[in-house]
Amino acid sequence: MPIAQVIVDVPTSQTNTPYSYGISDQLLDIIQVGMRVLVPFGRRQVVGFVVKLTDNQTFSGKLKNIIAPVDLQPVLNKELLQLARWMAEDTYSFLISCLQTIIPGGMRTKAKKFLTVTDEAVLGDNVDIFQGHAQIEYVAKELDKSQLKRISSLIQQGLVSEHYSLSNHAHQLTQTAIKAAKSEVELTKIQDELPNNAKAQWRLLELLKQGTETILQTEAANHKITGSTIKLAEQKGWLTKIQVAKNRNPFTSAVTKSQPLTLNPEQANAVQTINASIDRGSNQTFLLEGVTGSGKTEVYLQIIANALQQGKTAMLLVPEITLTPQIVGRIRSRFGEQVAMMHSSMSVGERFDEWRRIESGAAKVVVGVRSAVFVPLDNIGVIIMDEEHDSSYKQEENPRYQTRDVAKWRGAYHNCPVVLGSATPSLETRARAGKGVYQRLVLAHRINDQALPEVEIVDMKQEIAGGPDSDLSASLLTAIEMKLQRHEQIILMLNRRGYSSFVLCRNCGFVPKCPNCDISLTYHKDLGQLKCHYCGFTRPMPRKCDQCGSTKLRQLGMGSQKLEETVNRLFPTARVLRMDVDTTRKKGAHERIIKQFSEQQADILVGTQMIAKGLDFPNVTLVGVLNADTGLEFPDFRSSERTFELLTQVAGRAGRADKAGQVIIQTFNPDHYAILLAQTQNYEEFYRTEMKVRHAGKYPPYYFTVKITLSAENEKQVVAQSFAVLNQLQQRLSPNAVILGPTPKVIKRINRRYYYQIIIKYRQEPTLSTTLTELLNQAQQKSKSGIQIGIDNEPMDFM
Ligand code: ADP
Ligand code: ZN
Ligand code: ZN
Repeated sequence: MPIAQVIVDVPTSQTNTPYSYGISDQLLDIIQVGMRVLVPFGRRQVVGFVVKLTDNQTFSGKLKNIIAPVDLQPVLNKELLQLARWMAEDTYSFLISCLQTIIPGGMRTKAKKFLTVTDEAVLGDNVDIFQGHAQIEYVAKELDKSQLKRISSLIQQGLVSEHYSLSNHAHQLTQTAIKAAKSEVELTKIQDELPNNAKAQWRLLELLKQGTETILQTEAANHKITGSTIKLAEQKGWLTKIQVAKNRNPFTSAVTKSQPLTLNPEQANAVQTINASIDRGSNQTFLLEGVTGSGKTEVYLQIIANALQQGKTAMLLVPEITLTPQIVGRIRSRFGEQVAMMHSSMSVGERFDEWRRIESGAAKVVVGVRSAVFVPLDNIGVIIMDEEHDSSYKQEENPRYQTRDVAKWRGAYHNCPVVLGSATPSLETRARAGKGVYQRLVLAHRINDQALPEVEIVDMKQEIAGGPDSDLSASLLTAIEMKLQRHEQIILMLNRRGYSSFVLCRNCGFVPKCPNCDISLTYHKDLGQLKCHYCGFTRPMPRKCDQCGSTKLRQLGMGSQKLEETVNRLFPTARVLRMDVDTTRKKGAHERIIKQFSEQQADILVGTQMIAKGLDFPNVTLVGVLNADTGLEFPDFRSSERTFELLTQVAGRAGRADKAGQVIIQTFNPDHYAILLAQTQNYEEFYRTEMKVRHAGKYPPYYFTVKITLSAENEKQVVAQSFAVLNQLQQRLSPNAVILGPTPKVIKRINRRYYYQIIIKYRQEPTLSTTLTELLNQAQQKSKSGIQIGIDNEPMDFM
């Protein structure tokens, strides 16, 4: 009798060792590797993933049986199961959280599964299952073997589809379609006998004669055939009406077809080199280093086209905020319906539909954010990561994976090249390209050799004593004025990294803080509220100081909302749009703002980092950065890199077409190398300078790093545990490993918990992996006493 090895989903007793379960006769041949199943665990029933089927009878004792399958088809194939295993090791996390991360969000835990019949004939043949309903909730326990087998085969034939929903209805969208109920000969005969004035009926018969395929009612409407005509025809028995599934279409607007552009020599070289690698099926990593506006996207499009021509598929990953309609529009206009899209503002249902389209092979090009790296794309020809340096590629929660590493793993599995594109590559990537581990391809010129925009640096220390509106320097004000007169567009960016507007009592200096966290509250003027950005605590904006009772409470710092107000006041005739987390919360809002601005319905776009990347607006000739250096003050080794990146990216938004661009950067650190080198957009010089800093400080890419974070509600407890962990590390690691801490985190208390961290920097530590795995397993025990331990391999920051 076969035994199923199952990784169960039980938060408090996680382990990477599977549990064994028996398979009853009833479920024999139904349970497959990669399916989720319901199993008994202690006194409960839990969901688990079948990772292996074995035949051996080495197991002594009584096995419990699987209760029912959760899936009718495997949700994970061989590749993805293998990937999960590797990821668990690489990120020091449990296999179950990796498996859960790989499947689409909608399938996880609480969602219900529904089955929708897409062909009416199925209802008649399977009354025992569907009882005449086109849609039923799937409850495996209520179905017997023959029923499970039938459903499974109907799904495979495309006659039944699966959907997930958190509510009681799957919201499977359906639409009415019609199908001829008579042969072409019969229809022609009816047509001949029609009275002369029955024109609509004649047109309908003509349409029905065209084929046996179903015709959507909307399509019939295009032929000026109304619902009542169809109803009449149905009564006469000419046709049958059916409901067909309608996939949600995440693409909101139609696109026009575009043709490949004639490449410039640098682009052509890059395309040829990568294509040769695709054709050979060789697993190489390329760094495509190209200044902003050098035509990297066109290179992506042409190598994707080549992969498709070879009968393969392609994946294009983009950072969270860059997934603008612009890049998606460009991809779709080249590849049409073959494109599937995956990003966070899509609904659970939309993402599931796209996932199915990919799994079934209907979609061959996937464009998406971080989580799209896990899509069940088969026969991959090329994997591209645009803006590979972007921090959104690192998942900041468990499992803390780096998308780049997953992409490389899949590239190796599929024997295909991985292309990392950026104007400002991460130091790790650039260093590997320098050593020849990656092949470096350079696009040094902008398309048509446009000059890079001229960048002026304004020292705000000089300005602050100046006018009443010292948020905007005199230079910036003059430049805005001039561009407005010329009807050119302007982008103003506020660097909000770790920066917010808070409230200060001018009488006693009191700043309202969050009661749960170690941080000041942020003022939200539109809501009249103070809000904690870490735990969500809110309170109304006080009229009087909590401490001294004075009414002299003032808002300090600059928010994008305040900047918008200032700009409106100073330039009353200018049309201003704002893009930040508050204005883009609603679905489609992001796209709408971009559309309005690109159609020149506004003169000035005010926003946060969100507007820095990827956008291509030809009429923008001025970019102003209000506060370049807020990121520099961060106590973190990557802060210079982040600042340089951001400034270079945002400067690249200016002067992309024929008009020259101008950039004004306001800063309190005009002499800092990250700012000076962003002025000339000299990445290579920045790379050399920063590498020296990293070398001196023993930071990546010279050293590997691991961050261990401990937290508890009781501070003494977390400190004691941190020292216990330190002790353990010191005993196990070599003297060459640098261990920093334990130290409290920059924000020590969040949501009533205290956070401490230990950083390990090392070059070679053969025992590190086993030491950390042990720690992970101990963490499981300690979590029972309220201590949480998180391990972050190659963290994005040390904060
Ligand atoms: P990047 O992604 O490097 O910032 P883009 O791919 O957005 O650059 O290219 C910038 C602009 O140049 C786009 O408007 C694009 O359509 C155009 N472009 C790219 N390659 C070519 C080419 N070979 N010929 C003409 N125009 C091009
Ligand atoms: Zn006060
Ligand atoms: Zn808080």
